[in-house]
Amino acid sequence: MNDEELAMVCCSDLSGHVKGKAFPVADMDSRLKKGVGWVPTNAQITAFNSIADTPFGALGDLLLIPDPAAEAKVDFQDGSPLEHFFLGDIVDTDGAPWACCTRGILKHALDALRTETGLDLKSAFELEFQFTDASIDYGPGFGLSGFREKKAFGSTYLGALRAAGVEPDSFLKEWGEQQYEVTMHPQIGVIAADHAVFMRELARATAQRTGEKLTFTPIRDPDGVGNGVHIHMSFVDQDGSPATYDPGGPGGLNKHARHFVAGILHHVPALVAFTAASKVSYARLTPHRWSAAYNNLGYRDREATVRICPVADVNGLDPAKQFNFEFRAADSAASPYLQLAVLVHAGLDGIRKRLEPPEATQEDLSVLSAKELSDRGFVRLPTSLENALIELEKNDTVQSWFREPFIDVYLKHKRGELAYLENMSPQDACKAYEGVY
Ligand code: GLU
Ligand code: MG
Repeated sequence: MNDEELAMVCCSDLSGHVKGKAFPVADMDSRLKKGVGWVPTNAQITAFNSIADTPFGALGDLLLIPDPAAEAKVDFQDGSPLEHFFLGDIVDTDGAPWACCTRGILKHALDALRTETGLDLKSAFELEFQFTDASIDYGPGFGLSGFREKKAFGSTYLGALRAAGVEPDSFLKEWGEQQYEVTMHPQIGVIAADHAVFMRELARATAQRTGEKLTFTPIRDPDGVGNGVHIHMSFVDQDGSPATYDPGGPGGLNKHARHFVAGILHHVPALVAFTAASKVSYARLTPHRWSAAYNNLGYRDREATVRICPVADVNGLDPAKQFNFEFRAADSAASPYLQLAVLVHAGLDGIRKRLEPPEATQEDLSVLSAKELSDRGFVRLPTSLENALIELEKNDTVQSWFREPFIDVYLKHKRGELAYLENMSPQDACKAYEGVY
């Protein structure tokens, strides 16, 4: 008997989980055209596989169509089956983009940015994760011993990324216990978020084959270290030239970048409902964790929502080509498509309204009084997912970026997720997320 060769087409859904249907590779040509059938209520399957309140019920039909430009085909050459999946777009049966397709939502945001400003977004994801086997000595943060301990994993993992078209940038033992970090080279447009999905899924695919266990959960213990996602952003113009840096601008930001960052900081209380989308994300978004707790712009400050990153101004390297800023109030319990989409929309709103960011901080904002904070235009980020959802409900501008019924669906989804966790202690909620991310 010959094994049937299978490939899968997937979406990154509202929970950030990757789901879809597999089909025989023999049918590739027709599947690339017609995709697979998909069901609207699938959007309401929460991170815990419970079904949140759904406006769709048992009704409706959609198509999930693979994008040949977003194909991961990796042969681990260990006798295990080929890892083969596509990311795709969810559309109505007449081909119109579905309002709740996270990838379509990002494409729409990137199109708006290009149409209104002539700029394309170039972005890169930096992901932290932890191995869960506590019996191993991983050594100190950034240590050679920790690298050596996981070198075999890292080599296989980064090889898998490269095979899937991701350009790996670095792999390191992060500071936290059992914690590692992986970064990618930036990509223009939707591919950056495709690659963020590949980075998470191929880490899991590698671990499954090596017998290791890891988690991308935002935080494993309320008092422990967080696993962040830092989203690096810059712009290129229609010639592909860098368009973010102005040596005379504040922190090096040019006019567009300044307004874009200001838009993100202005809307961030509502944006975190998408970027830090789990209940336990808010244990990470607290001061003194090198994550983000206020709506501040940091000049090389690792406790800022947006940080202006350093450039290597050495050996004749061009600062303009490297210059970027990173959004730090994100984690892996969310879809990278939604994360990037809300950042682009918020930034574009900042450009439209010519918003100005506050002066970049290089200080501990948690020691300031409430009055000092408000005098300088700083707000504490929401301290719970429920509060972030309330900020989203209050923010008509953010809601206007989406087509109906997305906001209603998303709010119901997240409230369904919270209902599942209702009677759990913070520790048990952390355990629940660790099991599913
Ligand atoms: N682990 C920190 C976080 O939760 C980030 C540490 C760093 O890379 O600066 O975001
Ligand atoms: Mg890190």
